[in-house]
Amino acid sequence: MEWKDRINVTKASLPPYEEFAEAIRPLWESHLLTNMGIYHEKLEKELKGYLGVQELSLIVNGHMALELALQMMGFPEGGEVITTPFTFVSTTHAIVRSGLIPVFCDVKLKDGTIDETKIERLITKKTVAILPVHVYGNVCNVEEIEKIASCYKLKVIYDAAHAFGVKYKGNGIGIYGDASIFSFHATKVFHTIEGGAVTFREHKYYRRLYNLKNFGIRGEELVEEVGANAKMNEFCAAMGLCNLKHIDDAFIWRQKCYNLYRKYLNDVKGIKFFEENSLVNSNYAYLPVLIEDDYRESRDELYNRLGKYNIFARKYFYPLTLDQICYMDKYKDAEVNNARYLSSHIITLPLFEGLEREKIEKICKIVAE
Ligand SMILES: *Cc1c(COP(=O)(O)O)cnc(C)c1O
Repeated sequence: MEWKDRINVTKASLPPYEEFAEAIRPLWESHLLTNMGIYHEKLEKELKGYLGVQELSLIVNGHMALELALQMMGFPEGGEVITTPFTFVSTTHAIVRSGLIPVFCDVKLKDGTIDETKIERLITKKTVAILPVHVYGNVCNVEEIEKIASCYKLKVIYDAAHAFGVKYKGNGIGIYGDASIFSFHATKVFHTIEGGAVTFREHKYYRRLYNLKNFGIRGEELVEEVGANAKMNEFCAAMGLCNLKHIDDAFIWRQKCYNLYRKYLNDVKGIKFFEENSLVNSNYAYLPVLIEDDYRESRDELYNRLGKYNIFARKYFYPLTLDQICYMDKYKDAEVNNARYLSSHIITLPLFEGLEREKIEKICKIVAE
């Protein structure tokens, strides 16, 4: 099979080659390739404007953005963080790797986000934060979560890795909670090859993040904190600046793809889309559909059948993070029935900038036949 004949679930967007080549030319003159250079500064500024947030710090990738966002809050070791298991493993790993304990809350069937009505019963004396996920760009109930957090004096950190450019009631999604993290990995809607960011409200966190991403170095002979190295380099920042110029076209393309899928699959028995929220401007990052029990075959059978046509859908997110072998049995008592249901019925179909109409028609025909 030719590699180019495959239709994968996603395909990284690229700016025109000449644009990127032109953008990186000055680096051959300055030899300043990393350590908060001109592109790092420019991208932080442009992203703040684009995302409509007060504060933003670029990080080497989305996972480190999550780890450092947790660490910048200065939680005591062993603190509990209420989160969901219906996500990429990074979310759970970041909590555990930061010396904190994940406490799993169930999700809502209608959109896969945290079930805010089940958060309070999980709060204990050790709870320090809530870490919900805007999964597939579906927006969590930010208002209810805010209420619970302020009532119990908890921090809220959103995993917004899927939610670049999403707006809720006209606001950039990054303004909610104490902080949000974004991933700029090559497979995400907006990318810097590898990269990520933390957005937040309080300016004091900018300095903390700067320390955490640069060894805590404040001067030639001064190390203020035990920081990591999680800086974004200039090539990645330049890629981000190029991609940002084309991001609105990318959203338009994605929306067209999404509408085509809806048109062809809406009335297929047993195929269900997540509920759309009229208060949300979507980024059409993914095309998750539920393969319900009245579909003519199981989710796995459909997944395998698509594979025979060189169409590589994904079972995002299966298994649940807490069922992964690295966590085996540790969290088996968590009550996450809805998350389990979604995980065993979901399939994510190909959707990316450049995916042609004919390919979508072919995919839908196979799903509907
Ligand atoms: C991609 C992703 C991350 C991690 O981002 P990277 O940039 O790949 O490190 C974290 N959480 C979720 C939900 C993701 O999809």
